[in-house]
Amino acid sequence: MSELAELPPNDDSAAWKEKLLDYYRQNAPTKIRMVNDAMMTKYAGKYDSLYGNLIKKYGPLGQPTAAATRPSISAPGGGAKKSIGDFHSNYVTLVTKATPSLPPRSYTSVVEGKASDASNGLETSTFTVCARVRPLLPPEEGQGGEMFAAVVAGDRVEETKTSPYTEQMLLCTPKVSIMGKPKLEESKFDFDYVFGADSNNEDIYKLTCMPLLKRALDGQVGVVFAYGQTGSGKTHTMNGIMDELIGSNLFSNETEVSFSFLEILGSDIKDCLEPADKPVAIGEALDGRILTRNLSNHVCANPEALSVLVEKAKSMRSTAATSRNDTSSRSHGCGILTIKDVETEIEGKLYIIDLAGSERAADSKNHDKVRMAETKAINTSLSALKECIRARTMASQPGNGGIHVPYRRSKLTLLMKDVFDIGCTRLCSTVVITACSPLAMDISHTASTLKYSAPLRVAMQGLAGKKLQRDELDPALWSADQTLEYLKKTHPNLPSPETFLGSLPGVHLCALPEKEFYIRTKNCGGTVEVAKEVYLAIWSLISDAKTRKRRPDGSIITAEDEEKERLQLIKDKEEKARVWAEREKHLKSEF
Ligand code: ADP
Ligand code: MG
Repeated sequence: MSELAELPPNDDSAAWKEKLLDYYRQNAPTKIRMVNDAMMTKYAGKYDSLYGNLIKKYGPLGQPTAAATRPSISAPGGGAKKSIGDFHSNYVTLVTKATPSLPPRSYTSVVEGKASDASNGLETSTFTVCARVRPLLPPEEGQGGEMFAAVVAGDRVEETKTSPYTEQMLLCTPKVSIMGKPKLEESKFDFDYVFGADSNNEDIYKLTCMPLLKRALDGQVGVVFAYGQTGSGKTHTMNGIMDELIGSNLFSNETEVSFSFLEILGSDIKDCLEPADKPVAIGEALDGRILTRNLSNHVCANPEALSVLVEKAKSMRSTAATSRNDTSSRSHGCGILTIKDVETEIEGKLYIIDLAGSERAADSKNHDKVRMAETKAINTSLSALKECIRARTMASQPGNGGIHVPYRRSKLTLLMKDVFDIGCTRLCSTVVITACSPLAMDISHTASTLKYSAPLRVAMQGLAGKKLQRDELDPALWSADQTLEYLKKTHPNLPSPETFLGSLPGVHLCALPEKEFYIRTKNCGGTVEVAKEVYLAIWSLISDAKTRKRRPDGSIITAEDEEKERLQLIKDKEEKARVWAEREKHLKSEF
């Protein structure tokens, strides 16, 4: 071959044809039929540049790359293929160009907005789904290669009649064009909030966690959890939220604040504040409450005491390991802040959950048996979490009354039962923060992370626009007069229903926190027992309304409808039996 390789560019076509045929034979056998007279005529005098292009496309002679379908890019001198990383600075420029400049937010009450929508009594759980991309870290900056930011905060779409307020995460996947030029392929994911690399924990706390804290102070439940790849900033965000909580106005004479922190590693649960030999157990009491055994709960009198506990929990979770596989990234960390009203003893709770890293099969291929079991447990709990959120949102849609929420499938979801339980008497708001790495090298993992979490929000939007038939038994739809009439008729032990209710319509009564029921009953001279009775009665009405069977068009299936359907079914069965009996008689008479 050597003499052929030395051929001058304009030598006669026969020798070049032989050279080209040989090249194709070795490097791209499927393309060999392209070497024909037409090609030889077309490239006459330019065979050397044709040969050079082939090397760019299929590699040097003797390196078959039949799989190559797209041209790779050659280095200026020709020969070696170039990778995405070789165009580092081009991509940095392209991403900068694609990044929109965002004004300060004009709409800042998504979590509260959802919670107040939920007070119509039809919905107990609200989900706000956010995403955050961390900045490049100092060791990543200036590294070149695929270490550049390719994930940025995208556009914000103001609320319209047909779609709610939306913020977008923009993924700029680096690609090489057919002409061998670097280009970006953009994909957008919709969220309630998107926090860019310049966001700080304080902003995130204010927009996402503060409304939850308000709920917890009212005796309700708030959950905030971070999901994402290891190293994407979950712990940074959750620790930041805990730090902000310490500085918030949590402490007063009327409340008692306590804190627990546990870690779920595989199927083991560990108390991080007072590690004991006995494992922590999470279970469900007969009345449906979630109980924990061997989990210490520490009362904090002031912010300093809470700060000591938070620091202890953080240090227990963080390990010296710097690899992507440290233990903290394989366990779910869960801080539980309980705020008890000293007078009424009603407890509000705030769960701050730092989920285990979302490892993929490829990341775990070198794992031993124990590690594989852990990875399996993580994936089980993460998929259980997703299933629960989906089922919970589906269950709120008309015609889906009987959907089961599989919260018992993992310890994590069991612990978060209040979030998923339709019959739960406490309103519950959940905020999901999807943590993303900005690096181009992590982009496929980031895309799968966003594909997991973005639809959780879409599932909620599915509720919008459905017209439900008015449910006369739903207290949230009663006028003030109807509500008063109900109280008079059903709760004769309530001394003065007028004082109790004021002029509240049903929707406002349903939104009152449990604590308020006690205060109002006390003000009108009633006992704690009466307050409890009224509260539970209202909640069972709300719960009935939420689980009322409906047809997919939103119309209610009443008890009479069901009875009618049952009778019709019996009638149909009897009719069928009669027809069969007659047939049998017929057959018998024939044979
Ligand atoms: P994860 O918990 O998802 O594995 P970490 O929270 O531990 O990831 O973050 C990995 C590294 O990135 C840490 O060193 C952390 O300090 C840093 N980091 C994460 N998010 C940010 C951020 N928004 N700003 C600055 N540094 C961050
Ligand atoms: Mg972490």
